[in-house]
Amino acid sequence: MDVRNLVDRMTLDEKASLCSGEDFWHTKAIERLNIPSMMVSDGPHGLRKQDMELAQPQINESIKAVCFPTACATAASFDRELIYEMGQAIGEECQKEDVGVVLGPAVNIKRSPLCGRNFEYFSEDPYLATEMATSHIKGVQSKNVGTSIKHYLGNNQEHRRMTSSSQIDARTLREIYLAAFEGAIKTSKPWTVMCSYNKVNGEQVSESKRFLNDILRDEWGYDGFVVSDWGAVRDRTIGLKAGLELEMPSSGGVNDRRIVQAVKDGVLEEEILNKACERILTIVFRYFENRMPNTEWNKEEHHKLSRRIAGESVVLLKNNGVLPLHEKQRVAMIGLFAKSPRYQGGGSSHINSFRVESVMDAVQEKLGECMGKITYSQGYEVTEDIVNQVLIDEAVDAAEKAEVAVVFAGLPDDFESEGYDRTHMSLPNCQNALIEAVSKVQSNIVVVLHNGSPVEMPWIDSTAGIIEAYLGGQAIGGAVVDVLYGEVNPSGKLAETFPLRMEDTPSYLFYGGEKDITEYREGIFVGYRYYDKKKMEVLFPFGYGLSYTTFSYANFNLDKERMKDTEELAVSVDVTNIGNRFGKEVVQLYIEDKVSTPIRPIRELKEFAKVALYPGETKKITFLIGKRAFAYYNVQINDWHVESGEFIVQLGQSSRNIVCHKTVMVESTVKLQIIYDDNSTIGDILADPKAAEVIRPMLELYNSNNFMGACEEPGQEKGTAKAAISDEMTKAMLGYMPLRQVLSFAPGLYSYEELLEIIDILNEQS
Ligand code: BGC
Repeated sequence: MDVRNLVDRMTLDEKASLCSGEDFWHTKAIERLNIPSMMVSDGPHGLRKQDMELAQPQINESIKAVCFPTACATAASFDRELIYEMGQAIGEECQKEDVGVVLGPAVNIKRSPLCGRNFEYFSEDPYLATEMATSHIKGVQSKNVGTSIKHYLGNNQEHRRMTSSSQIDARTLREIYLAAFEGAIKTSKPWTVMCSYNKVNGEQVSESKRFLNDILRDEWGYDGFVVSDWGAVRDRTIGLKAGLELEMPSSGGVNDRRIVQAVKDGVLEEEILNKACERILTIVFRYFENRMPNTEWNKEEHHKLSRRIAGESVVLLKNNGVLPLHEKQRVAMIGLFAKSPRYQGGGSSHINSFRVESVMDAVQEKLGECMGKITYSQGYEVTEDIVNQVLIDEAVDAAEKAEVAVVFAGLPDDFESEGYDRTHMSLPNCQNALIEAVSKVQSNIVVVLHNGSPVEMPWIDSTAGIIEAYLGGQAIGGAVVDVLYGEVNPSGKLAETFPLRMEDTPSYLFYGGEKDITEYREGIFVGYRYYDKKKMEVLFPFGYGLSYTTFSYANFNLDKERMKDTEELAVSVDVTNIGNRFGKEVVQLYIEDKVSTPIRPIRELKEFAKVALYPGETKKITFLIGKRAFAYYNVQINDWHVESGEFIVQLGQSSRNIVCHKTVMVESTVKLQIIYDDNSTIGDILADPKAAEVIRPMLELYNSNNFMGACEEPGQEKGTAKAAISDEMTKAMLGYMPLRQVLSFAPGLYSYEELLEIIDILNEQS
């Protein structure tokens, strides 16, 4: 379709109208020109297509679909292919249901465990988040259905999310918050990007030319359209100029009229409107021209896929040998979530699952006649957090009679949701009390957790095993049974740190902010970047997860010892399954900058791979890493920069368990220009060999005149006045002395004009 030509034939009113939704879920059709209306629907972990037959489609039930595991779970799989498959399945469902864009994935960084919407987000680490998002987008879009990576940008809390301003410094934005979007946008080219409700540094993101155009389009080469989060538009004209093409849902025509008026008043160039229409129509026609109306998908097959993905995402946090269970063991299944799992979060991503498979359903199917060995007791209620002693006594009784007790705990719906944040990290008291009580009578106690974000575990030492099942989608019950009984060997790794206490978290002092100002004062030190730098103890570190087998690493190799920052480094290692069960290992590559001028985290994740191995099998993993893996964002040059020096390449089984490391010398090919002025310190000038030559005569003169801060000759007797001044102090004083102080500490040695000449020479050679 020649969309430019189409736009040329549109009236001003038609063009303005195209820039907002017809209703909650459709773009506008223009029948005169055969422009169809395209439906969009929520995701991200399934299709939430509103049933348009109903009276109020924006708030009514969605059609039955498959609820796949939420992002907090899928991120733990560290498995790009798996997420791709999930994307494909969601894409197929969209094709069948005629949905052109499925809204997601949501890639916001988990800045605090308190964010109510963490279940929908991938990770505290931008590289992992962006890699997972890339696979999700590629999977969906392989079915000719668009995605909407969201919520761009700085939407890391639910508290006052529509009005608050996220105050984030430039480097942190680049290294953490933008980075989560950047990789996915550059490599997977989502059809749409959804801008967030909030402001960043005082500017409404929906009106930010810097974020919506300069960075997104000019720097990252984005070619789709930007859609507002539902109701995120404030000033429509400013937004359109900045690069916000589609307003959703609709403004009832108010903003369409404003756009028309702005063009007529000469406040908005019509060409900007034309461009916006072109971008919207490009995507609308991309969808309709590549429709696959005959796409068939099988609900049960997708349910099975959901179970497989959930199984691959489960993280085994603790196992003293109690797991896997044997089919003949007497097991007390305890907790309402065993019968009625919590498997997704509340809000716009809520899927109307066509069926939900609980642990009790799945275990019945698996054990058949042996089901007599299994008991169920409810243990707690979820409607109210009140310790119910009758339910606890029943559970304790069942646990006592069994060989193993499996307690299903987690967060009830109202503990975490879109729209508000958590206020603490605890499980409901009634569940903690249950676990304590059961652990007193049964040492073989396994706790299975269903939650979208970390929880405190006061009972950890009295458990024999802990499984983090997250909000694992409609088939989570089956997946948990697969892991409990060893059908699936757990291979998930935490995509976020589990801190010991809420007070330990990096943003604890400032999270949520004051009224509408939220300062991201922890800067780049988010998640493990913070805990590692502070050498803090955590409950479970980023990247951690156990397996029923064991892996060993050998022949770790870097293909070079020195490299330029324009070159690539090949990092290889042989991984062997030395246990006696099939299993999967996640090899994590971290980079540590040995010595750096900028303040940097100890280590950062730069690559990972998931490898499947039979007992005794060995596979070689090779990673190729380039400049970005070593770089930090330099705000002086507004670019990624590698500081020449040694970097430690580390392979780990978690951020806290590095199994092999080697050093590589990386040389920068970019010389940072230093601008000298009268405030440049002697120390900084001496650190630059050429500049040091320029001021050498000055220093010699200064020293020979024995001015303040001048260095004494070695062996020279200290005078009484000088006895109080150590050599270190003298050196430091001189080092920190700005050039201009030569005028006051060495009066008459140089004139101000002579000093300016020296500064000029310094800048010429720089
Ligand atoms: C949410 C988005 C969602 C949209 C449409 C908003 O409130 O923040 O994630 O896609 O509603 O339901």
